[in-house]
Parts: sequence; structure tokens; C-alpha cells
Amino acid sequence: MAERCLCLTGSTLADDFAALERYRDLVDMVELRVDYLEPQEKFHIRSFPEKAGLPCILTARRRVDGGRFDEGEGVRLVLLAKGLAYASDDPQKNFAYIDLEEDFRVPALEEAARIFGTRIIRSCHDPDGVPDDLGAMWDSVSREPGEIPKIAVHPRGTGDVLRIFEKCASIGSRERIVVGMGDYGFCTRLLASKTGSTIQYASATGAGMEAAAPGQIDPDLLEDVYRTRLLGDYYALYGILGGPSVIGALSPRIHNAGFAGLGIEAVYIPFPADDLAAFFRLADILDIRGFSVTAPYKEKILPYLSSRSPEVERIGACNTVVRTEHGWTGYNTDTRGFGVDVLRFIGRENLEGIRVCIVGAGGAARAVAQAVKTLGGEACIVNRTMWRAKALAERFGFEWAGQNERAVEMLGRYSDLIVQTTSMGMNGGVPGDPLELYEFTGREAVYDLIYNPRETPFLARAREAGCRCANGIGMLREQAAEQFELFTGTAYPSDLEPIE
Ligand code: NAP
Repeated sequence: MAERCLCLTGSTLADDFAALERYRDLVDMVELRVDYLEPQEKFHIRSFPEKAGLPCILTARRRVDGGRFDEGEGVRLVLLAKGLAYASDDPQKNFAYIDLEEDFRVPALEEAARIFGTRIIRSCHDPDGVPDDLGAMWDSVSREPGEIPKIAVHPRGTGDVLRIFEKCASIGSRERIVVGMGDYGFCTRLLASKTGSTIQYASATGAGMEAAAPGQIDPDLLEDVYRTRLLGDYYALYGILGGPSVIGALSPRIHNAGFAGLGIEAVYIPFPADDLAAFFRLADILDIRGFSVTAPYKEKILPYLSSRSPEVERIGACNTVVRTEHGWTGYNTDTRGFGVDVLRFIGRENLEGIRVCIVGAGGAARAVAQAVKTLGGEACIVNRTMWRAKALAERFGFEWAGQNERAVEMLGRYSDLIVQTTSMGMNGGVPGDPLELYEFTGREAVYDLIYNPRETPFLARAREAGCRCANGIGMLREQAAEQFELFTGTAYPSDLEPIE
């Protein structure tokens, strides 16, 4: 299992020690990022390992490799030599590791490290992308048998992530460190058992420090949400597929709390994706057992499924995919999730006699339309792209309009309940209010499927006008509970604190 390493990026050693104390129980080792230290602090790095009391990596990362060091190679050499100098008989008083880039080969320094028992991490970084020839990058760091090869790259899409895991699968059991930076690379940080990484880097961001690299998260999140130290090397893998904003989704907290509550060896992580075919190849390599689907893939995923539940067939959108012996099966738990939560919100047992405006005509709107129909309501669909509004409305026998004056006229007749289902106003999505032409009267009940932020500009405007309002957190919890049962065959634990 990978050791968890806290990257210390304080400008003073005192700050670094304070951050270490904050996280000491949650980490196995630390990396002292000398390149973040103020000049006078660099004179005192030699005593750091003894005071830290944990195995330490000594690193002075250059700007070109994504670090801060820009004083030249001569100064860097002196600094690193200072870190190794006057080695003690007691290895705990020495740096346990030194990180040296593949093009920084100084035999005298390397010899000193070997004699003093400091292991060399031989690293190569591409902070801007993943090189076409990842094999050559790996070869450049893996020449010396006693060193620990490290590659750190910045995937810019699902294809890049796939190439990283493919490369890892081809390496065999050689000790290594592999890091994918940024949102796309986030899964490589969490799945150290799948990359074969012996070190998992964490940031001290919860202690106010800068992350040493994009995508690094703090030990609290690794421990509480993803339980990376509690899981063995073999666990069932689940996740959420979506656009870039899926990194901020609440679903990992919900599902992982369920696994923890029931003692299930499983983890659920975000997979932002830009290429569905590449994602499915990744799902095979990683043996993903099932995943949630969110914007913008609820409809686009359909051609990749080998079977679909009657609900998916009816509404033409899928938010849950489960691996079976015969391929991928798609389900939709949004319909029930919305139905249960909206009835709770308006305090009724059905929607009979309720006239509803559904704003949006994407995957989520389809589920909402199905729920409104099943619960006996009447509705109109308002959407930016008119043909999509028309297609969805005709499927359910509802009225429709574009985002225009006709929508305002129709809202005069369909405003007992207004349900916002577009991605406008979502964190990481397009800012704005999809119904800005409409003046709320204060008598409408207004439900926004978005829960991040808790209140979109649309919902804030409705609340200010005196409307009763709800966001999508209740729906999220309801649909996730049904998903959890589809994934595990077990009901979601009922005694957990609700995730906010
Ligand atoms: P989707 O299939 O991609 O549909 C997006 C919808 O938003 C379409 O109607 C689209 O209109 C509209 N839209 C996007 N950008 C717009 C813009 N700039 N101006 C006007 N309209 C715009 O996404 P989805 O899967 O339906 O998800 C939509 C939202 O619902 C997301 O924020 C998602 O997080 C949320 N959601 C929440 C829950 C929950 O449990 N609370 C469940 C499902 C979804 P066009 O047709 O014109 O492109």
C-alpha cells in the first residue's frame, strides 16, 4: 500500500512544522519543498528530519518542472549538498530520500546519498501535458536499479489518463511513483494501488498552504472521503462520470460514507471525461464495477450500454451504469429521486392538479418530466434549444417554448411549481439565470436541481421574491441511495448523518 506523504510548502520551517503537527497522525512521511522556503530559512534545512520525526524527502523543484526554484543549478547543488551533509549514524536524523530530476545527474551528490542511506527518487516532470512518448520518459528515470523512478505528468483529457494507466500496467512490479496532475489526473492520485505508486502525495491546504501541484488534496479528504489508507490493494471501484465540474460533486461523500458505514471494501471517485470511448477503455483497465453519470453524458452514454432498464428506455437518459457479465447495464434513479423529494418539498402525495414548468430539456429534465407525468401533474418545457424542448414535450404530451416571451406567457399558466434543470448557475458551469425574462410573483414553489452552489442566482431571485424554494440536495441523496443499492445489492445505511 502506498505511503502517504505530506508536501510542505511553507515559506518558513516553523510554518512547515505547524502544518506537520496538524496532519501528523494522517501521514507516513513528509516532503520538504525547499524551493518554497525564504532564503534565510534554507540555511537550516539540515536539522529538519530530526525535528520532523518522520521519513523526509528533500526536494528543490525548478520552475520548469512546476516548482519555485529559480536560483540556478549551482545554487541548487549546494543547497541539496547542505541537506545531506554531516550525515548522522542515526538514519532518522538524515533525509530518507532526495528527489533528483533525470537531467540533474551529479555523481558526487548521488554517491553521498548512497553512502548516507538516503534513497534517490529519480524524477521527470511535465507540468503541461503527457508526452507522446511516455515510454521514453519512463526509461529516462528507471535506468539505475537502486533508485525510485518517478514520473509526474499533467493529463489534458481521458485519452492521456488512459495512457498513464496503460503504461503502469506494462511496467510490472518495479517500485515507482506515478502522478497525474490536475482534474483529469485526480484518479491517479487516489488509485495508487492501480498505478503501483509507492507514495501518495498530499497537500497541507487545510492548514492554509499552497498545494505543491495541481490536484493534490489534503490528508483529511484522503482519509475521510476516500479512505485511501484504510482500503487494502483490492477493493471494488465505483465512480461518477461527468464534465470537469464533477470534481466538486458531492456523490463521492455520499457513496463512500455508505461503504464505510457498512464496512464494504469499495471506493467511489470522480472521473471527469472528455471522450466516452476512452473512458470505457479506462473502465475496463481499472475494473470499474459501476458509475453514476452526470452532465453532459446522460443521453450520450446510451449507445455504449448493452442493456437498459425500462425507465431508461422510457425517458431516454441514464444516470447509473452497472457492469454485468453481459456488458454495461443502464438505469435511471433521477426520476424516483426527484419524485420523492419534490413531494416532500410541496407536502403532497402526488402532483394531481399541479401545473409545472420544467426549465431545460437535457438528461435531468427527461427524468423530471417522467416523474411529473407519473405523479399526475401537467407541465410545459422551456429550453434554450427549441427543438429539444419540443421533442421532450411531445414525448410526454406537454406544452413547450424557447427561452423567450412565449415562455413568460406560458409561465402565467404553469407556475404552481417551477423546476430548474439546466446546468446554468452550477459551480464550474455557465453562469447566469435561465429564466431571467420571468418575474416571480412569490406564489410559485421553486425547485432547482443544482446543489452546488446551494443557491443559484435563479433560486436567490425566487427566494427574494418570496417564493418557497428548494435546491437539489434532497434529490441527490434519494437518487444516490437507489444507485448504491444497484451497485452493491445492499440498502444505503439509514443511520448516517445526511451529507450537506
Ligand atoms: P445536460 O443533459 O447536459 O443538459 C443541460 C441543460 O442545460 C440543457 O437543457 C441545456 O440547454 C441547458 N443549458 C446549458 N447551458 C445553457 C446556457 N448557457 N443557457 C441556457 N441553457 C443552458 O445536463 P443534465 O444531466 O440534464 O444536468 C443538468 C443539471 O442538473 C446539472 O447542473 C446537474 O448537476 C443537475 N442535476 C442534479 C441532480 C440532483 O440529484 N440534484 C440530478 C441530475 C442533474 P440546451 O438544450 O439548449 O443545450
